[in-house]
Amino acid sequence: MTSHPNVQHLEYPQSEQQHGFAIKMMELLVIPTFVLDGNCKVIIWNRACERLTGVSAYEVLGTSDHWRSFYSEARPTLADLVVQGRTADIHKLYTQHGHRNDAGNNLCVENWCDMPRVGRRRYLAVDASPIYGGDGSIVAVVETLRDMTDEKRAQIALEQLATRDGLTSLANRRCFDDTLRAEWQRALRQQQALSLLMVDVDNFKEYNDAHGHLGGDECLQRIAGAVASEMRANDLVARYGGEEFAVILPNQSLKGAAIVAERIRSRVEQLQLPKRKQGRDYVTVSIGAATALPSPASSPSQLVATADTALYRAKHMGRNRISLPDTDTI
Ligand code: GH3
Ligand code: MG
Ligand code: MG
Repeated sequence: MTSHPNVQHLEYPQSEQQHGFAIKMMELLVIPTFVLDGNCKVIIWNRACERLTGVSAYEVLGTSDHWRSFYSEARPTLADLVVQGRTADIHKLYTQHGHRNDAGNNLCVENWCDMPRVGRRRYLAVDASPIYGGDGSIVAVVETLRDMTDEKRAQIALEQLATRDGLTSLANRRCFDDTLRAEWQRALRQQQALSLLMVDVDNFKEYNDAHGHLGGDECLQRIAGAVASEMRANDLVARYGGEEFAVILPNQSLKGAAIVAERIRSRVEQLQLPKRKQGRDYVTVSIGAATALPSPASSPSQLVATADTALYRAKHMGRNRISLPDTDTI
């Protein structure tokens, strides 16, 4: 009998020659592939899988340690889930998942894997296909893997370009508009308050005149960092326009929004960015706040308009201050 380094010894059911050919093919297949038996033990680990994971077939054949090739912490692979009939758990373990055939037993998922042995994370597209015995039970599961890291990185970079502001890395105006619409709908469904802050740098034209446009850019980056540092996980800070930022505060009352606004105002002042080359006059911001309890009759643009009016009032009253609307107090 021929020995195959990537295959655990199997009792051949058919002619040895035929079987040996199939095994050889599996071994040389350029697609990383491994096969588990009905007890989740590895029976095939091909060479492409060795190259992808940095783990040799010798180490993993006959064991259930294959997960260690992909993850730093114990968790089942897709093939394990299929063998164990735990396909319902797939949505908990993978963000991307689906079926390749109508019967629904050929599963495909995508996710980031730690790849502990090679020491760099890879984004893998994974397919698992069960092989059934005569009695209809699963005798083996074939898992094939495709390294999609480059494609995933390109996709993330494109998404970044579409939603982020190049200078400050904050959300851009488009992302702000989309998020405000989505948060408005959510607040409407859940009958929660939604607050908005409009933050505008005071006398920024003067800053540019004193420090040049590049100096102005740096100043905007520092302010963006200061505003972002005051945010909670569900808040969104965006660059709304040139030297203007907008902050969406879901499920936040006007009182709460005023506290956040005051923290932002004070934080920017504490950056102590000198307005002129010399002097102790520092860059400040004015902030307008607004809160709404969304109803089908109102719209997110009204919330923006109310916050804008409050911002205008803060400017009018002397800048470096926050202003709240007279009405709609929640
Ligand atoms: P106010 O207190 O009334 O807001 O005064 P202001 O000078 O900040 O307002 P104004 O709207 O007159 O000027 C805004 C300035 O912001 C003018 C513009 O050149 C500058 N600006 C807008 N975007 C950028 C940017 O990306 N980089 C730099 N350096 N400056 C910018
Ligand atoms: Mg300004
Ligand atoms: Mg402005």
